[in-house]
Amino acid sequence: MPTTAIPTISLPDGETVAALGQGTWHMGESAGKRAQEIAALRAGLDLGMSLIDTAEMYAGGVAEEIVGEAFAGRRDEIFIVSKVLPENATRRGTIAACERSLKRLQTDRIDLYLLHWRGGPALADTLAAFATLIKDGKIRRWGVSNFDTDDMEELWGLDGDGCATNQVLYNLSRRSIEYDLVPACRKRRIPIMAYSPIEQGRLLRHAALKDIATRHNATPAQIALAWLLRQDGTIVIPKSATLARIRENRDSVGIQLDDADIAALDRAFPSPKAPRPLEML
Ligand code: NDP
Repeated sequence: MPTTAIPTISLPDGETVAALGQGTWHMGESAGKRAQEIAALRAGLDLGMSLIDTAEMYAGGVAEEIVGEAFAGRRDEIFIVSKVLPENATRRGTIAACERSLKRLQTDRIDLYLLHWRGGPALADTLAAFATLIKDGKIRRWGVSNFDTDDMEELWGLDGDGCATNQVLYNLSRRSIEYDLVPACRKRRIPIMAYSPIEQGRLLRHAALKDIATRHNATPAQIALAWLLRQDGTIVIPKSATLARIRENRDSVGIQLDDADIAALDRAFPSPKAPRPLEML
């Protein structure tokens, strides 16, 4: 059977990225797993999952080192997303953090650099640092993570057009962002980057998901990913260090959910009817 191509998503500056990428949280936490993690990331790239999400926080920087090692010599094939910790996100701290990340990633530029979540430093200072990093060619563009609607409004008040994404918790069991955050970002053509798309595995035990998976001769993880991939302007970044699961996640792209599937999923995982604060993991 021919493999369905991974769809692409346009960022506000016109760059296109794979809608299905790879996460790296918890990679690098155990030296004994390093070779397996590197092999999984490379296999994912070979299958087209070229957007790689990492952060200075993950394993204290070791996840970034793993990304650097996995893609040494293949830099131009990947789109690197990394993140600065809020406690580092001052004007000078952001630049220093980015330079440390670049070293660990063995590259001269990060394609998309995010503020991991809101913290103490003034947002205007973080944005000033992002502007300097862009001017110096160290990052290509910037975005945010774990920003609720009011945070986005504040951001847009400071810099209307610069933000390239908001990376937030989004999966079938975490739909509260559909009430206001998703419409607000969509209005500005800012893609959502959905983290923990299978709720770190906890979603997979759900009966509704199992039923639909059986109907499609698929797995619950594939259905959960296929559902997210149907959402407009949504980039999905599952993490796996297991080769078989990398292939399984990749194959979610070929699954076409029909109206009956969507109705069953909406019954099992209703969209919110009122605003709720953004959830985080
Ligand atoms: P995910 O929902 O991607 O789940 C990852 C877990 O599920 C791992 O334990 C993995 O195990 C397992 N898994 C992966 N695929 C399958 C499958 N097909 N069947 C069964 N189990 C599977 O959770 P994450 O929290 O890792 O989220 C994805 C990425 O999003 C992160 O890695 C990180 O890059 C980003 N993130 C960002 C956050 C932020 O604050 N900005 C917060 C959380 C995540 P194994 O590896 O052993 O296969």
